[in-house]
Amino acid sequence: MVFKLIQKLTSSSTPSSASTSAVKTAPRSTGGFESLGLIEPILRAVKSEGYENPTPIQEQSIASILDGRDMLGCAQTGTGKTAAFALPMLQRLLGPDGLEALSHEGNKSAPKQAPLVRALILAPTRELALQISDSFKTYGKHLPLKTAVVFGGVGIEPQITTIRRGIDILVATPGRLIDLMERRVVTFQNLEILVLDEADRMLDMGFIHDIKRILKVLPLKRQNLLFSATIPKEVQGLIDSILHNPVTVKVTPVSSTSDQVEQRVYHVGRADKKQLLLHILDTENVTRALVFTRTKHNANKLEQFLSESGVQAAAIHGNKSQSARQRALDGFKAGKIRILVASDIAARGIDVDAISHVINFEMPNEPETYVHRIGRTGRAEARGVAMSFCDYEEQRYVATIERMTRKDIPVVTDHPFTAGANAPVPPRQDGRRGSGGGRGQRQGRSQGGPRGRSGAGNSSGHSSSPARAGSSANRSRRS
Ligand code: AMP
Repeated sequence: MVFKLIQKLTSSSTPSSASTSAVKTAPRSTGGFESLGLIEPILRAVKSEGYENPTPIQEQSIASILDGRDMLGCAQTGTGKTAAFALPMLQRLLGPDGLEALSHEGNKSAPKQAPLVRALILAPTRELALQISDSFKTYGKHLPLKTAVVFGGVGIEPQITTIRRGIDILVATPGRLIDLMERRVVTFQNLEILVLDEADRMLDMGFIHDIKRILKVLPLKRQNLLFSATIPKEVQGLIDSILHNPVTVKVTPVSSTSDQVEQRVYHVGRADKKQLLLHILDTENVTRALVFTRTKHNANKLEQFLSESGVQAAAIHGNKSQSARQRALDGFKAGKIRILVASDIAARGIDVDAISHVINFEMPNEPETYVHRIGRTGRAEARGVAMSFCDYEEQRYVATIERMTRKDIPVVTDHPFTAGANAPVPPRQDGRRGSGGGRGQRQGRSQGGPRGRSGAGNSSGHSSSPARAGSSANRSRRS
């Protein structure tokens, strides 16, 4: 059984050669991150994340960004694009002098004086902004560079205090950044690198005027990186006005599911999901299952519930230490742990063969994430089962997934918990949003709210998911 911390999307094709001018680089090898010209403290951080090989976008981007080129990256979340820009940015910001100082000091030390913002990353949502700033902190953990993140919807004062203490890298949503600019908390005369992440989404969300205002106060001489999953006309306008002679990197998103994986949807009330999971563990031949939740908090809660119910389970997510994650993965691999509960962020680096079931305990609001998730089973000629527990609010996600993958997902109608399937979703006890707000998740690109459903519990026992109701005559019934 192969058990390795590499993502399916990683590739070992020939990486581009990189040059980093005077910056000392790690010894080169014929592949892997070492060959991209990254310095040792960054390689060490990448390694401790469990990444073995660069993903295609990382292979294609890192050298050019290290060389100071502007870049247009056509890629979306899940491709490894954050590391594709964060790793070379950290290295450029450190610079040869910083590396030299680092090697003398032997460890990271605070900068002598409060620096001004040298890199600005604009992102459309707080979730993405947080995810990006976490990535900078993780990849830069051996470097003396400070990262802060600012977004709206929370108090501004702590953000002001953090910025005033001095930061090198600022990750921001546009609205809150404008607030901070108006209060003269943040200035950009030292800015060297600008990143616009998910540019299409930012324009979709009406940030164009904010972005234009921000651009006006940035120094003209800077490196610009723009990432966008799609390039509609408005984004092209932004590309033309911001990027100078850019390198263009395109990565094709995953959009199809393997026929080796049998997919099923269970319509179920949110409150019944745990019991449905126990029912499935009792009645199906689930030997090794990866169960996905949307948040770390929910992963912890579910692990606790399973353990209390006598199921061998463990949870992995970003808040767990590397050693705790490794222990959980080792137990899972050895068959001591039957159920591994994971958040998307943590699970993306896992590649374990012989997973019999992937269970979407909570639906992802990005169809690409669904494809990534269920790709963990049905590997190496084995057959796998992917089950999706779908409450009333999540029904729309299934429709989006079916559209993207061009496959109908059969609905299981004869399970014991169909009655609550259309129940309105109660507000969460923990103050989190009801749906679609998981960290690192983009809010649903799927349009429209929950649809009426003719599915679960109908008398025929056959059904289809909402968007396809009636579209497929040969839906299977399972027990
Ligand atoms: P992103 O597309 O930046 O949202 O990254 C998607 C996920 O891939 C994140 O959970 C990263 O931790 C993970 N990741 C990024 N680069 C690699 C890599 N080279 N190998 C394995 N996982 C990676």
